[in-house]
Amino acid sequence: PQLANQIAAGEVVERPASVVKELMENSLDAGATKITINIEQGGQKRIAIQDNGKGISKQQLGLALSRHATSKIRDIDDLERITSMGFRGEALASISSVSRLTLISKPVNQSAAWQAFAEGTDMAVELKPTAHPDGTSVEVLDLFFNTPARRKFMRTSKTEFQHVEQVVKRIALARTDVEFVVSHNQKKMLRFANNVTLDKRIAQICSNQFIENAVRVDYQFEGIRLHGYCCKIGTGMPTRDYQYTYVNGRMMKDRLLAHAIRQVYEEALAPQKFPAYVLFLDIAPEQIDVNVHPAKHEVRFHESRKIHDVVFKALTEAIGGYSA
Ligand code: ADP
Ligand code: MG
Repeated sequence: PQLANQIAAGEVVERPASVVKELMENSLDAGATKITINIEQGGQKRIAIQDNGKGISKQQLGLALSRHATSKIRDIDDLERITSMGFRGEALASISSVSRLTLISKPVNQSAAWQAFAEGTDMAVELKPTAHPDGTSVEVLDLFFNTPARRKFMRTSKTEFQHVEQVVKRIALARTDVEFVVSHNQKKMLRFANNVTLDKRIAQICSNQFIENAVRVDYQFEGIRLHGYCCKIGTGMPTRDYQYTYVNGRMMKDRLLAHAIRQVYEEALAPQKFPAYVLFLDIAPEQIDVNVHPAKHEVRFHESRKIHDVVFKALTEAIGGYSA
């Protein structure tokens, strides 16, 4: 099981930013309205996340760190299956198998907070009472301390922190109802207040220039909705850094969506400008397959032609171009 965890960890936990992503998603799953993230040395030394979500009961605390999957790696077939299926329910186990992880939680209806600790394993070695407000904290120390090969792939702490920031921004664009605070080496780097409008958050995360030159998109067709903001004809930004697409609330780097968007702006942008957009596609879950690879932001649409058309028409209409 330990080998299995380290293999799983290699897939899910590529670098500090992937840890941050998994932990933030857990906090959001728990209904948190505030998430505080403290990073030290790009996350290689310390990643600490605190939320005010529903918490984990004392009984569940140890279990939360163990793999849910019943399969164990026995032969190469199992290995292949693990690689192709992704690792739902195994993020904490994967992270704790390559770090020193402390999980502290206090559900509202539990009088005391409890803490579990694991060091390079998916098993909590200690369970003890501690002090903590309602919610959950996860502290990840010395990431990859027991996997030197992985550690070698880490870049400078500045670069790793930039990846962390990117993860936080991607998530924060989709969750204007949640407050996010991020510090690096004790210095406050980002703060996004909760319950702001999408255009405010885009201005804060991307730039004022983006939103000043953007139009609102809101288009529906046969149960598919595309909404958000995209830049006007002739505007755009100097880099691709302002291109965000989400499918059912999850950030996806989808080629089909990117292609449809690019087609709309073809010849409509100033030279050396890239379209800027933050777009959310909402679609019935049975119309997509997101299990292609959970860590790689990929999705497969069952009716891809239709999705392409919806995106093309929605944007063409929004920016006031011709309609097909
Ligand atoms: P998954 O999120 O896929 O279930 P994880 O390994 O990420 O798997 O988390 C295991 C479980 O631990 C979650 O299902 C949840 O019950 C619990 N958990 C993890 N993080 C939190 C959190 N911040 N707040 C409440 N519960 C949490
Ligand atoms: Mg999770």
